[in-house]
Amino acid sequence: MNKVNDIKKYIRENILELTPYSTARDECGDNLNINIFLDANENPYDNGLNRYPDPYQKELKGIVSQIKGTPEEMIFLGNGSDEAIDLIFRIFCEPRVERVVTIKPSYGMYKVAAQINCVECVEVGLDDEFNLCADKILSSVTPDTKVILLCSPNNPSGNLLSEKETIRIVETFDGIVVIDEAYIDFADRDGFLPQLDRFKNLIILQTFSKAWGLAGLRIGMAFACKEIIDCMNSVKYPYNINCASQKIAIEQLTTLREKKKSELKEIIFERKKLVEELGKISCIERIYPSDSNFILVRCSSDATDLYNYLIENEGVIVRNRSQVFGCENCLRISIGTPAENEKLIKLLKDYLTA
Ligand SMILES: *Cc1c(COP(=O)(O)O)cnc(C)c1O
Repeated sequence: MNKVNDIKKYIRENILELTPYSTARDECGDNLNINIFLDANENPYDNGLNRYPDPYQKELKGIVSQIKGTPEEMIFLGNGSDEAIDLIFRIFCEPRVERVVTIKPSYGMYKVAAQINCVECVEVGLDDEFNLCADKILSSVTPDTKVILLCSPNNPSGNLLSEKETIRIVETFDGIVVIDEAYIDFADRDGFLPQLDRFKNLIILQTFSKAWGLAGLRIGMAFACKEIIDCMNSVKYPYNINCASQKIAIEQLTTLREKKKSELKEIIFERKKLVEELGKISCIERIYPSDSNFILVRCSSDATDLYNYLIENEGVIVRNRSQVFGCENCLRISIGTPAENEKLIKLLKDYLTA
């Protein structure tokens, strides 16, 4: 158990002093029996979109709470998890003064959000197998380090980070630890959500963009203690998730759960098949183990040449990660439909004879 009991000491002073914008919807309350809304300068004629959205997405959050088994007061919903990442910088890190530590290679948005917010981002390399070493991370921490950002399963390497090393970081670090679990639904191990109650300094990020197939809706989730969630809610734009997104998300999460489950199963099955098939292809030198919906492969010839070949021949695009730390000569391949994967394999087989 991390000894943190007052999360306030990590929050920037101007944020602690903030009087958040109070919307018309905040002031009208939940319990009152109001049916004529003359408080928000909306157009009164109903077209399904004339009213402002619920700033706290209560109905959607109720469903998320039920799916995840986490109380609503510990859930933040944002315009993608990218919104949550940006808010974390703005809430905890004093520009030009404080720093964050993250791993490399990892998701590019951490560094971009750090740069936008004028916060130094120290990147600590994973080892050759993309494993996390808690000591290495903790030894990069200085008194100015406010946040450590981890990603598990990690993008672009695809692997889960060691649970033991991660917990050691959360327990030891005197600051906020973020674990980005965008791909956790594809892993065969639980993420850290069931352990959230143990750690007040932990923020878990998840998203509807990957396993749930809703990247176009832009809805991400952050899970943390109530104090952190309250703070995120007071800093976010009041109406950060629009009516259409909330409505469609509610429909999708309630009616399509079985469909999503079977898609997820199919993607995991295809991942296994793809790993086997890629193993037989001579232009692929190494296949990294994946707990996500993509596979990182190291090419035996020039990765960029193979990348261009795939685009030029059948218009297949993968992610060229060959310029990224630890990913020299590597491509990251998302799992497609069975037909798409088959086409990819055929193309790769042809490449070696080309
Ligand atoms: C794709 C991805 C996200 C998703 O971001 P959204 O803004 O929710 O679409 C977050 N983190 C990682 C590591 C990702 O790869």
